[in-house]
Amino acid sequence: MSDQLPPRTTNDAGIPAPSDEYSLSVGPDGPLLLHDHYLIQKMAQFNRERVPERVVHAKGSGAFGYFEVTADVTPWTSAAFLSAVGKRTPVLARFSTVAGEQGFADTVRDPRGFALKFYTETGNYDLVGNNTPIFFVRDPSKFQDFIRSQKRMGDTGMRSNNAQWDFWSLSPEAIHQVTVLMSDRGTPRTYRHMNGYGSHTFMWVNAGGERFWVKYHFKTEQGIQNFTDAEAAAMASQDPDYHRRDLREAIAQNDFPAWRLEMQIMPFADAANYRFNPFDLTKVWPHADYPPVTVGRLVLDRNPANFFAEIEQASFEPSNMVPGIGPSPDKMLLGRMFSYPDAHRYRIGTNYLQLPVNRPQAPVHTYTKDGAMRYEHSGDQPVYAPNSYGGPQAAPEYAAEPTWSADGEFVRSAYQLHAEDDDFGQVGTLYRTTFSATDREHLISNIVGHMSQGVERPIQERALTLWRKVDADLGERIAQGLGLAAPSPVAD
Ligand code: NDP
Repeated sequence: MSDQLPPRTTNDAGIPAPSDEYSLSVGPDGPLLLHDHYLIQKMAQFNRERVPERVVHAKGSGAFGYFEVTADVTPWTSAAFLSAVGKRTPVLARFSTVAGEQGFADTVRDPRGFALKFYTETGNYDLVGNNTPIFFVRDPSKFQDFIRSQKRMGDTGMRSNNAQWDFWSLSPEAIHQVTVLMSDRGTPRTYRHMNGYGSHTFMWVNAGGERFWVKYHFKTEQGIQNFTDAEAAAMASQDPDYHRRDLREAIAQNDFPAWRLEMQIMPFADAANYRFNPFDLTKVWPHADYPPVTVGRLVLDRNPANFFAEIEQASFEPSNMVPGIGPSPDKMLLGRMFSYPDAHRYRIGTNYLQLPVNRPQAPVHTYTKDGAMRYEHSGDQPVYAPNSYGGPQAAPEYAAEPTWSADGEFVRSAYQLHAEDDDFGQVGTLYRTTFSATDREHLISNIVGHMSQGVERPIQERALTLWRKVDADLGERIAQGLGLAAPSPVAD
């Protein structure tokens, strides 16, 4: 015990709290007073302590650590955080069950989430996988139905084995994952004693633009250990937080769990004629076909300082891919790239990426603004692009999208131009032939009036070059209205 006095309680505005135990009343037995702002704040904040739990993967746990590259992967990817052997990147990992709610027992039969966030120098990279290399469905359109069949029924509010088997028996593609789920890997002993798989097929792109299909396998260095069904059931009643406790205690005792990252790497061209669809999430790539290559090591060595702030509010999103890594035609992956950020916006709030646990360690230069609980802001920087005031500009080297379509490359480009495609022809026709003389006069006075209010001279001049391209007479009349000289040959 310290001899020092503890810090003084305050309310959330930092004002000294009048009492830790007594509310303000009229005399010792009198009614309570509404202007006891401290009591009101305590009650109101308490009512709002929860954010909606995740619809799937609600019960989980997590820890911080690092990922270290142990082999040269530059022949396959230009991802900056994988660029050199020995390079370390800070990581957040979250493990979870899938179907149960926040208070559910950890050891129930279920797949386990294995979600990683790499805080890389080119932004957050999230790999949001499971402890199995496959999944129940191969199309995102079936995901919501699948999950509803596994969670509580509408009428009874209870889970139903009948519903689970109803869905599975009508979905033959689920049988591979059901087999793993019903094996002892469906009841892992701890989060430390299970593997993690990226599950989806992803794309790696090297510095020369060469593309590869890849699968991630994080192999536990602790060894696979599972409970039997009976052991798992016993532990569910003995300690519902067993996995959470195990992870926390192991790290607290400096027994840091680690996983070896093994990659399966498929040359891009192999996919087209491989003996089954390599993007189908219900399939593995047999190791004999694409032998796993060890490339890195994941170590978890720091417990969260606060569970809610750093684990409950953690947001993992498969759409967070950094340059050198891209998606594949796996439809489940493509669906998840929409649904996860959407869930975070709903569950945590618009500015969830500004929370310390989610905030990239790479600099953020964005034009997004405002929204509930905005914390980071760009001060007086422009809030739109393009602009003339030094705002950030996208780097063209990042414009190329990892592509797989046989029908054409994915591009970010303007339309293909046709013979009469220009920005000015139809406007000129409108001005010259459709507008009456009065319309033209009003247009010019409206433009001159608008451009005279606070528009800087260089911007007026730039806009004037556009009006001159629409119509010489229009340009001239606006120039006169603005008091601008005739165009110099250079400006035009
Ligand atoms: P291999 O014999 O080369 O690999 C079999 C793999 O199965 C092992 O490496 C291990 O994966 C995994 N495994 C071992 N015991 C169990 C178990 N009790 N429950 C679930 N998985 C287990 O053969 P293939 O690569 O041809 O795969 C054969 C089957 O193994 C697949 O059809 C699939 O069902 C399963 N499997 C395959 C994986 C793959 O990526 N190829 C990964 C996991 C399972 P690990 O080393 O990852 O633990």
